[in-house]
Amino acid sequence: MTNDELSTHELEPISIRHSMTPSIVVFDLGKVLVDFDYSIAGRRIAAQANLSAADVQQFLDHSPLLYRFETGLMTQQEFFAEVRAHTGFHGSFEEFAGFYADIFWEIPPMIELHAALRHQGIPTYIFSNTNDLAIGHIRRNFPFFANFHGYILSYEVKAMKPNAKIYEALEKMAGKRGAEILYLDDRPENVDAGAARGWQVILQTNPEKTRAAIEKIGLLPAS
Ligand SMILES: [Mg+2]
Repeated sequence: MTNDELSTHELEPISIRHSMTPSIVVFDLGKVLVDFDYSIAGRRIAAQANLSAADVQQFLDHSPLLYRFETGLMTQQEFFAEVRAHTGFHGSFEEFAGFYADIFWEIPPMIELHAALRHQGIPTYIFSNTNDLAIGHIRRNFPFFANFHGYILSYEVKAMKPNAKIYEALEKMAGKRGAEILYLDDRPENVDAGAARGWQVILQTNPEKTRAAIEKIGLLPAS
């Protein structure tokens, strides 16, 4: 199998061009370790609001508001106040927080892949554009989330991928750089920013391809 065949990057295969075996593995969270569906939150919030579920979802998922929340520029209460003003939601903050955050489920083969890497003694990191409502929910409900060496979260770093600032924060926390780092993410612009720093990257399209690429690198025995 050639490097190009291993790469999951469709436009510009870049994943495994280094001969160095990486010493840490960095995981994006959404669509890599957990899947999510904002329409679940849209339906539940809309049931107590003045907008359609689709309009609520659009507002939650694509508005500039989310960017501000996930770069740590507003608190949970400020975020709630803006959602309430825009949608007419008339439930409590606690109801909103539950509706907003309970939209995730584990991707089992990726949870197993992470556990296998930890079993090999390889340090792993979470590297996510996210907010503290989502992370609080995931921490309380998904035991796998406790088992990482470190966490670089956009709302704490005050920068979102693909901004270089958040990549620098990961390198500083881990004490690693360049090809010492293997990074998995489902978004091309994010893996491209990692590759530009010399990180080894895998653009995740499905768990099976990611597993095969990690075995090829030599971090896990061939299955
Ligand atoms: Mg993602």
